[in-house]
Amino acid sequence: MDELRYQLDLLNALNEKLNGNDRIYKMISDISGYSYIYINFMEETTEMLGCWDEVLGERIGNSLDQDRMMSYIHEDDREKFKNTIADMRRNQAEDAVCEFRTAQGKNWVECRSHVFYNDYMEAQEQIMCFRQTTKERAQNEELRYLAYNDSLTGLYNRNYFVKCLRDFLEKAESENANVALMFVDIDDFKKINDSLGLLFGDELVQDFGLFIKSLQNDHIIAGRFGSDVFCIAIYDPYGSRSVEMIYRNMHDRLRKPFVLSNKAEIVFSVSVGVATYPEAGNTALELIKNAEIVLFRAKETGKNNLQYFEKDILNEFLDNVTIEQQLKSAVDHEDFLLYYQPQFYANSGKLRGVEALIRWPGADGKFISPTDFIPIAEKNGAIIPIGNWVMKEALRVYAAWTAKYEYPVVLSINISAIQLKKDNFTDQLLHLINLYDINPKMLELEITESIFIDDFEEVIDKMKSLRMLGIRVSLDDFGTGFSSLSYLKDLPIDTLKIDKSFIDTAIHDRSTNIITESVVNMVKKLGLETVAEGVETQEQYDFLKKIECDNIQGFLTGRPMTKTDIEKLLLETEKELGE
Ligand code: C2E
Ligand code: CA
Ligand code: CA
Repeated sequence: MDELRYQLDLLNALNEKLNGNDRIYKMISDISGYSYIYINFMEETTEMLGCWDEVLGERIGNSLDQDRMMSYIHEDDREKFKNTIADMRRNQAEDAVCEFRTAQGKNWVECRSHVFYNDYMEAQEQIMCFRQTTKERAQNEELRYLAYNDSLTGLYNRNYFVKCLRDFLEKAESENANVALMFVDIDDFKKINDSLGLLFGDELVQDFGLFIKSLQNDHIIAGRFGSDVFCIAIYDPYGSRSVEMIYRNMHDRLRKPFVLSNKAEIVFSVSVGVATYPEAGNTALELIKNAEIVLFRAKETGKNNLQYFEKDILNEFLDNVTIEQQLKSAVDHEDFLLYYQPQFYANSGKLRGVEALIRWPGADGKFISPTDFIPIAEKNGAIIPIGNWVMKEALRVYAAWTAKYEYPVVLSINISAIQLKKDNFTDQLLHLINLYDINPKMLELEITESIFIDDFEEVIDKMKSLRMLGIRVSLDDFGTGFSSLSYLKDLPIDTLKIDKSFIDTAIHDRSTNIITESVVNMVKKLGLETVAEGVETQEQYDFLKKIECDNIQGFLTGRPMTKTDIEKLLLETEKELGE
């Protein structure tokens, strides 16, 4: 109220000094942008001054009396104004503030008022100060909008979405209803974004965001969580607002291209994870987390699909998180072992080589399977230090064997696609080959078909340059990937490893039997060596020998074993040869 008091004093002072010089008096109040009503209860006079046209935003001829004042206030706000401002004297209030709309509802006006009382609490004077707040409110509104909405799409932002989801859950709890949460992520968005450029990438997100927005109603809210991540919450999902319906809608929309302002027509798919209250979580954050976890599964299983929450997926995820945490420290401490599984020539039964297989002793001393941790390491990059360790350790051990034994064995090492694609891969390998003085012709790198999915040419070039150095390349797990025989002839490889799944069924399933035989025949014609993997029975061995598969690897002839056991095998082999 100091401000008001100051202005009143100022006006009074001026008033007195200028002795009713209305012109100057008005000028002062004009620049302040305020309008005033001053009431003197003792003298029963009311004075109004200021720029009323401006404050009320209406042409009122800049003359106004108290009764007419009411007619400029929106009829819905008149009562409020009367109770807070006009009746201050009766309520013995000193200060009051009230905001009201003007009669047509176009503008907002704030009124602050102060009543001066004497020692007997009799009101002496009242000053009311009016100012227009329309613009300010619009700005606040905008700020509020920015605080709650995503500026690109206009959808709720993460924070506000979570708040609304909480409201849904609270309501669902009292009404015994369900809430479904859909976590939607554009497939391969990074690629699309890279090819479109940032600006058009944003435009695409915006267009898709608008579509998502169109799904909203009283029961459906939507938010944008990250660059290409959207969340939709459905209260009491059934019928037209069921997850399936919304997903189908989305699918229908995605069938048609999004046309950008540069005329580019973009088609993309989305993957969706769904978590439902109360089964998949009780809190907003839990639901979001679980929907995101199952979204990853939707991505893993080929994208462009929808995955509902399942407890098993969550458990697997949590196991993986544990593995991931422990893996970090294992990498730091090089807490791994290498085992070696022998491979034998099918005909002679003599040792052909060994495949190095990594072993990771977990906290309880039991080995954690490489099939469980290698994919995680490939995802988080740990495969690089792990792969480097494997190469170094395998070559070091191999060098020690060659120093001791003359018998020539091939050393096979599994190489992850991520490892091979590193620029310095060949240099690093060469460095180790020189360091340990290894004959590159005895070194075989096992790679899988997945390596060719992206950057086909680049990978082929790299493989060619490795082979120029004398290093052998082996295609692992043949029969599990796309496994087209026609493309085999174009691959710069030396060896083909026929996957265990073939060997398992070849004996009893006639068609696999025939396929396996023709694969071996054809591969041999291409000049490649064949290795059968996972040979467990004599029957399988005999069959493979009959169809002239070159090499046998499996539990039947030898499990993965320590380097000491391999040394024993080498010693025996040399002894046999010496006899
Ligand atoms: P892989 O390269 O196909 O290795 C063969 C897997 O089959 C090994 O499993 C081996 O122990 C197992 N195996 C061999 N013979 C038989 C058999 O007769 N019966 C059965 N049931 N299994 C047999 P392991 O050691 O658990 O390795 C699993 C996978 O982990 C490997 O499959 C390979 O993809 C990966 N891996 C292992 N070590 C490394 C490594 O040092 N680097 C990379 N990048 N991956 C590795
Ligand atoms: Ca292998
Ligand atoms: Ca294999």
